[in-house]
This record gives sequence, C-alpha cells and structure tokens, in this order.
Amino acid sequence: MRFDVLTLFPEIISAYCDVSIMKRAQDSEVFTLNTINPRDFTIDKHKKVDDTPYGGGAGMVLMPQPFIDAYESVEKTENSITVMLSPQGEPLTEKLVLSLAKYNQIIMLCGHYEGFDERIRDIIKPKEISIGDFVLTGGELPALCLIDAVSRKIEGTLGKIESAQEDSFSNGLLEYPQYTKPRNYRGYEVPEVLLNGNHKEINKFRLEQQIERTKLKRPDLYEIYLKNTNK
Ligand code: SAM
Repeated sequence: MRFDVLTLFPEIISAYCDVSIMKRAQDSEVFTLNTINPRDFTIDKHKKVDDTPYGGGAGMVLMPQPFIDAYESVEKTENSITVMLSPQGEPLTEKLVLSLAKYNQIIMLCGHYEGFDERIRDIIKPKEISIGDFVLTGGELPALCLIDAVSRKIEGTLGKIESAQEDSFSNGLLEYPQYTKPRNYRGYEVPEVLLNGNHKEINKFRLEQQIERTKLKRPDLYEIYLKNTNK
C-alpha cells in the first residue's frame, strides 16, 4: 500500500505517522507514505495557493492550479484510488475502510480554509470521503483517520492481525469488555469466567457482552445484526 497525501501542512501528517505503530509499519514496509505540498507547485511569485471567492463570501478558496499540478506530479500505480477529504463525502465506515484496503495506492487531497475551487473536483473526479457530520479546519486529521484505519487492515501493521479481527465493528458488533491486571481494582473484580481458562465459556461470555453493549450503546447496529443473524 502506498499513501500519497496532498497537503499544505505535511508536518501534521508526519507528526502522527512518524511515531508508534504507524512508524513501525513504515519501517517494515507494510506501507509507504509520501506527502506532496501544492505550495511547491504554485506558479504565483508569492507562492499563493488560495484566493477570495468569486461572488463574495467569507474565507479563502484553494486555487486549482497548485492542486492540479501537484496531483498530476504523483506517479499512479495500478489499482489506485483518489480520495478528497470533504464534509460532503461518503461517511467513513468499517465497510468503506475494508474496501479501501484493497487498493495498492490511495492518493488523498486535504483541503483547508473554505475548501476547494470546484474545478479541482471537476478535473480530478475524486471519491469524496467524510469522517462525520461536522466541519474541521483541514483535511489532515481526516486523512490520518483514513491512513490509520486502512493500515490496520493490512497484515503486518498490528502485532497480531487478530487484534483487528476482534475490534468493534469487525463482526457487526461492538467489542466486549477487556480487563488486565490487577484482578481487583478498588473493589471492581475481573469477571470470574475470564479466569478459568475455559475458552468455550469465555467466547460465550464475550459474545453475550458484545450483543448486550451493542443493543445498549448502538441500537442502530444491533438492528442490523439481528436482521443478518435471522437470515
Ligand atoms: N466550506 C467547506 C464546506 O462547507 O463543505 C468546508 C471546508 S473545511 C473548513 C476545510 C477542509 O477540511 C475541507 O476542504 C476538507 O478537506 C476538510 N474537512 C473538514 N471537515 C471534514 C470532514 N468532516 N470530513 C472530511 N474532511 C473534512
């Protein structure tokens, strides 16, 4: 997998990806990460990448030339997808993450200020993806969410691939409660069933807990789970 991120603030991407699990995944070549700064492509002598909106209105709009030229400089591999991080996009879900993990390359366009000149959409025709119905100042955090979530689906990123398979959403349910040492903390005991080494009973307990907490915390997901299991 190769991630190419078009951003005016590459240091935001490296601040997150050059530490911990993301760094280890890059060191072991599970994925490669490149950042491309459209400011390096501007033909404006003041290195301008944004301007005021035609028709008036608040804020600055990202100009097409630096973004399109930066985009066209990226070497496209086979099986590549281009994503624009945008509050107007398809919501990022586990299903979408799994389908993105099948590509060999994800090119991401991060907006800033008031967002993109519409011709960037017209010319590049990216898939627009949103991380939720709220507006952030830039596309870098959404791009990082995408990189993190997708790379967890690639073998080699996590110590044990099972850790992703047991996470919330992987079987349509939220994850069961987890406990570690000590057995008793401030009077709160670890459930007895987790201590007896009987894996059949442990799995039964965990599934019951998953169903119970999904029903309580995410009734929308629980309804879908019920429909799928009663098929
Ligand atoms: N004026 C734009 C609108 O109302 O649709 C919002 C622009 S926002 C302030 C600047 C940039 O942040 C966007 O171009 C996008 O890249 C990113 N962004 C903000 N919220 C986002 C979200 N919920 N999901 C994905 N990207 C988002």
